[in-house]
Amino acid sequence: PDVARQIAAGEVVSRPLDAVRELLDNALDAGASRIEVELEDGGLTLLRVRDNGAGISADQVPLAPLRHATSKLETVERVTTLGFRGEALWAMSQAGKLRMQTRPAAQLGAAELLAHGDDVSVRRVTAPAGTTVTVSGLFSHLPARLRTQAPAASEVREITALMGRYVLHHPALHWRLSVDGEPRLSHAPGDTRTAVASVYGPLSANRVIRVDRTQDRLQLSGVLSRPELTRARRDRMHLSVNGRPVSLPPELEKAIIDGYAELLPAGQAPLCVLDLTLPPEDVNPNVHPAKAVVALADLSQLAGLLKEAVAAALLSTPL
Ligand code: ADP
Ligand code: MG
Repeated sequence: PDVARQIAAGEVVSRPLDAVRELLDNALDAGASRIEVELEDGGLTLLRVRDNGAGISADQVPLAPLRHATSKLETVERVTTLGFRGEALWAMSQAGKLRMQTRPAAQLGAAELLAHGDDVSVRRVTAPAGTTVTVSGLFSHLPARLRTQAPAASEVREITALMGRYVLHHPALHWRLSVDGEPRLSHAPGDTRTAVASVYGPLSANRVIRVDRTQDRLQLSGVLSRPELTRARRDRMHLSVNGRPVSLPPELEKAIIDGYAELLPAGQAPLCVLDLTLPPEDVNPNVHPAKAVVALADLSQLAGLLKEAVAAALLSTPL
């Protein structure tokens, strides 16, 4: 049974990247304005996410690592938080050692939870307001999982890219990523343009223009690059839906590129960071376990909106 549980946990969190994504989502759901990530050995030896969000009150702490325990879900039809399955902390406590220190600002003492397999303990500690989650020895008891892990350097690269997307879509926060004790990415509160500077450098940030568009219940905002800043790869096209970075559906990628029309040389792609807000009932975050893909209710309407918004933004920009 223990093995079966570990395998199930390894499906929720199959690599350090998954754990980081889940912990970032938890920090955002907790309303944090500062989020810091530390990695050692690509996250397998240690990964830590510290936030200054709402924390968990002492009486609720023992519930946090229970499978399917969530404080968030009101209805599956209308998900307004990034997390809602209540499986992430559980999975991390099965696939590795979970340590969580947490304190709501209004509570004097903090709680420290240690959870690993069936062993769960909670004690009182002193800690700053917010939550720090540390996962160590991920998959150390799951040799089959451990064997399929990517080398640390490539996991770090992907986690850095993931965190870059969070920065781009949540630029009003403080962000910091350090890898084996060295700072890798940092961002001070700003807007989408300053986030582009933090992630891609100041030169890129100087070459973006703003997009803002509202149509019916859809609201689109963000930045896109002037036509001269383009590249063959499409890895700098970013979309979030209600705050969640999602992989850009091909139809929408095409719509954005079409919006540039002849301004974009064939085969080239722009840099863009677009944030889409729409009613929660029009989004189904449940389609993919990693929540990387969301089912959008009306993709063709959305494609039309994107294309128009891009064309209009470029048209109104002096060359
Ligand atoms: P979910 O996010 O799907 O609810 P998780 O396993 O990720 O499930 O977290 C379980 C619960 O623990 C959350 O519902 C939330 O109440 C609490 N929690 C987890 N992380 C944090 C955090 N960083 N700050 C405040 N509460 C948290
Ligand atoms: Mg969660």
